Amino acid sequence: MKIRTFSDAMREQFGTKVYRLSLTAGTTCPNRDGTCGTGGCTFCSAGGSGDFAAPLLPIREQVAAAKRRVDGKFPASIPPGSRRYLAYFQAYTSTYGDPETLGKIFREAASIPEICGLSVATRPDCLPDRMVEILSKINREKPVFVELGLQTIHEITAKRVNRGYPLPVFEDACRRLSAAGLPVVVHVILGLPGETEEMMLDTVRYLAGHRPPVSGVKLQLLHVLRGTEMGREYERHPFPLFTMEEYTDLVVRCLQSLPPEMVIHRMTGDGPKRLLIAPLWSGDKKRVMNLLSRKIAAAER
Ligand code: SF4
Repeated sequence: MKIRTFSDAMREQFGTKVYRLSLTAGTTCPNRDGTCGTGGCTFCSAGGSGDFAAPLLPIREQVAAAKRRVDGKFPASIPPGSRRYLAYFQAYTSTYGDPETLGKIFREAASIPEICGLSVATRPDCLPDRMVEILSKINREKPVFVELGLQTIHEITAKRVNRGYPLPVFEDACRRLSAAGLPVVVHVILGLPGETEEMMLDTVRYLAGHRPPVSGVKLQLLHVLRGTEMGREYERHPFPLFTMEEYTDLVVRCLQSLPPEMVIHRMTGDGPKRLLIAPLWSGDKKRVMNLLSRKIAAAER
């Protein structure tokens, strides 16, 4: 097994380390405001899965503030002048709104010289043709990765977590994005209640064989967070969650099921610690990553 991480892929594409800057386009979410649902996905925190995103400021100010944070966190690595950054529109549903207004925000981010590309996180039911066209135009200048929150292919789980759209909607979005030349990155949550490991692997295998191909995947551990519907459900009736050993074993099995060219954007999760109810071991990301690295190295031998 050989894996290609986000960091590897960025180095291949840009010749240097690329840092993500978490930004917000000021959008909300149709699964919260009643357009396609209310209450949101049951695992999603009030920050709309963008708990680290910058507050709503003009985009250049957001980029400057996010850069200061990133440069402060990684001071000793690559000198700030030669760093490259990916503008990551992470909070809520980043394409939910007027395509022209959002396009202006995305274009402005792409026009900043140190920004080497964009990553736009959204739902597959929020990609009207005009939005796809705008993203595709920007993609001709600088790469635009479109991240889709699929989480699972199983309708029974999708209903249980109130995802708010069925699988064919994802397939249609993938087809249209791919036809427009936009690389698709898919979010998968491992550990959703009611799912067996085989069901989670089904989702990963589905993505492995997907046509048109998806370019990358984000594997995320389910974080049960305070203030979410799932947090309340868990506190009323705790459901089984992975131990660190089980989770890292499953991630290795997922990686073994994916084609070597697929970019692995994430293997754990980034839930805000202050909201984390469970699993508490996931708060020690360094330990999780160390264990995972050892298991991946063993599987690669
Ligand atoms: S996960 Fe995404 S789609 Fe679901 S409620 Fe949160 S912001 Fe909306």
